[in-house]
Amino acid sequence: MFPLPSSLNRAGQTAKSAVLVLCGMAAVARSQLTGQGAVLAFHGLRADGEPAGVRDESLHLPVSTFRRVCQHLSRGYHVMPLAEMARRLRAGEGLPPRAVALSFDDGYASNYELAFPILRELGLPATIFLATGFLDGTDPLWFQQVDLALCAGIPLPGAASLGEWLAELKTLPEEAMRLRVENLLKGVTLPVAPKVTRPLTWDQVREMRDSGLIDFGGHTHAHPILARCSVEKQRHEIITCRDRILAELGQPPRAFAFPNGGPGDFTPETLSLLAEAGFESAWTMICGRATAAGPFMHLPRYGAPESVWETEATVSGAFELVRQWKGGRA
Ligand SMILES: [Zn+2]
Repeated sequence: MFPLPSSLNRAGQTAKSAVLVLCGMAAVARSQLTGQGAVLAFHGLRADGEPAGVRDESLHLPVSTFRRVCQHLSRGYHVMPLAEMARRLRAGEGLPPRAVALSFDDGYASNYELAFPILRELGLPATIFLATGFLDGTDPLWFQQVDLALCAGIPLPGAASLGEWLAELKTLPEEAMRLRVENLLKGVTLPVAPKVTRPLTWDQVREMRDSGLIDFGGHTHAHPILARCSVEKQRHEIITCRDRILAELGQPPRAFAFPNGGPGDFTPETLSLLAEAGFESAWTMICGRATAAGPFMHLPRYGAPESVWETEATVSGAFELVRQWKGGRA
């Protein structure tokens, strides 16, 4: 079967969300799932009407969509700092009704240029998880390099699509994956990096921190999938990331987000290493509600919703209820 074009998939998701909300499921979910938190995970943003300049635009939500999502949340939800959500859950204090937290992964400049003004205007807190080598300019994001190679006209091996090739690379041990990317890029002149691919500067990070609205967590140094690394390499990635944030901000990060963030992307050793390094919570990309039951070193987050309908169906817990009901039938 051919996959649907992503625009059709998105339209389908929005339609499904609208049906759930309009038939009252969001209201039912809000009353049944009290005391639970919903955490949204964004990446970058892009200006409306401007081409992103990368093949995979899905990581960079249009800024007007982000604004509508934030306006919706500020009207109907209690948007709280992620660290505060984790602390209250861990302490068994419970969460206020309609608790939501916002997060961003990787550390794109657009978090400062496009997201921060909206968050400040609406008074919404957020956590940005930094891949510190991306900000330092020493470790470009490898998946971004592959995307840019494709933009430069390099065919991927076996005429694979970007999604297929990235999916295959993500299964490989870290060193083998890096070698494949290195070979692909050999002799290739990458196009001038489009705006959406630029990292935050540390000055921008400090300015956002000083606003009191934004805090920063760890997301490794070079953005490997930790489960594909040796334990030594995992330790190096976690400690280097922590120490770079400490050096630049004067405080170590307490929250961590796993690169890729799927169930197979971290190991029991990863969780121990994070705890040893002083992290108090770690966040995946596995859908679900954050509850007092934890587990605090692999808490769930939802991917960025792409419409207000999808936002409502996600944070209210309507999607969650449907999933639970389907699971109950299985
Ligand atoms: Zn990431």
